Amino acid sequence: MKINVIGGGPAGLYFAILMKKADAAHQIRICERNGPNDTFGWGVVFSGKTLANLRTADDVSHAEITKEFEAWDNVDVVHRDAKISIHGNSFSGIARLQLLNILQRRAEQLGVEIDFRTEIHDVEALRSDCDLLLAADGVNSTVRSRYAEQFQPALDLRANRYIWYGTHQLFHGLTLTFRENSAGVFAAHSYKFSPTTSTFIVECDPQTWTKTGFEQMSSEQTLDYVGEVFAQDLNGHKLLSNNSKWINFLLVKNRNWFFENVVLIGDALHTAHFSIGSGTKLAMEDAIALAESFQLNASVSEALAHFEKTRRPVIEDYQAAAFESMRWFENAGEHMHLSPIELAYVLMTRSGRVSYEDLKRRDPAFISEYELSHGLHG
Ligand SMILES: Cc1cc2nc3c(=O)[nH]c(=O)nc-3n(C[C@H](O)[C@H](O)[C@H](O)COP(=O)(O)OP(=O)(O)OC[C@H]3O[C@@H](n4cnc5c(N)ncnc54)[C@H](O)[C@@H]3O)c2cc1C
Repeated sequence: MKINVIGGGPAGLYFAILMKKADAAHQIRICERNGPNDTFGWGVVFSGKTLANLRTADDVSHAEITKEFEAWDNVDVVHRDAKISIHGNSFSGIARLQLLNILQRRAEQLGVEIDFRTEIHDVEALRSDCDLLLAADGVNSTVRSRYAEQFQPALDLRANRYIWYGTHQLFHGLTLTFRENSAGVFAAHSYKFSPTTSTFIVECDPQTWTKTGFEQMSSEQTLDYVGEVFAQDLNGHKLLSNNSKWINFLLVKNRNWFFENVVLIGDALHTAHFSIGSGTKLAMEDAIALAESFQLNASVSEALAHFEKTRRPVIEDYQAAAFESMRWFENAGEHMHLSPIELAYVLMTRSGRVSYEDLKRRDPAFISEYELSHGLHG
């Protein structure tokens, strides 16, 4: 089969690896607008379950990825200067660039052709020259816009703003920090992803953003201001910018996932709010599901129909949980009257995927403390 892939992010690279592994005769070409070492952002997070899926799909890249991991089992919630830790949550972090480099090497080893610094404008030309065109071109997908009539995307630009920084302050766990000042509430999502660096994403609602006057601030002023808001948490370390800018989260869904020989995958197909940290995981698991569909079906059209049929319910379930989580952060101000332990409990159960019973099993000490605070004990 001749496969053209637009986008050399986690989804495109991983699909190419799995297809080439399944049949070395496939001709696979990835077109990627960036160079191999240009990337946005800092680290990405995987859960324990995702890692098991990656091991089954390709143990070679799994071994490389896990060698680079920073692992932890706690979610920390910081509110009114108190830190509450909830254990029993298995997560690992890796630098996005490191992950991409591992996948690039593995794909090239297997014989996938990667054309870096190749931006695709004429999607139709690429589509007519292959059996399968994989649109793995991310949240602002050119392919999705080009064939909007076929895919019928639903795009929902949310009101909250967020900015993705790094820092050398190490957060040994997924840390959710809340700080308030006269402008409003700021939430930081942070975790270490290497021995020296953490991701530090800051989010606030549009009223807080406007009241602070971010619109008039330069990038340096913004960085200094945000650093000041979280000064206690950063412990003297500076925030690090990677051309960091305020963004509004774009929620992406598509009525149709494929047509003829074109299929969407990863962020081009769907997004899930970063507060459940699952974009890369979903992109790579899409690749696994799509490659499996090609194993199970003889024709491209049957494989694509199988992919949509089996994968859509999983994605809809995730997007529903991520939506609840996103709404929680959009309304974070409403929860600031809670005590730290109450806030931690509400945060852990916000998406509806983690219950009281789950928490009791994962971290009985946390639940005892929570019950004590509510006078629920003996
Ligand atoms: C603030 C923030 C925090 C996040 N945190 C996490 C996290 O903790 N954990 C996690 O798992 N995920 C996280 N994500 C999500 C994650 O970054 C994405 O969900 C994931 O990278 C999706 O993979 P992808 O391959 O579908 O798309 P991308 O990684 O976006 O890759 C798309 C690729 O296509 C290329 N491309 C686009 N258009 C063209 C074109 N026309 N021609 C050629 N190339 C093109 C781009 O250069 C890019 O390399 C976060 C995202 C944000 C914004």
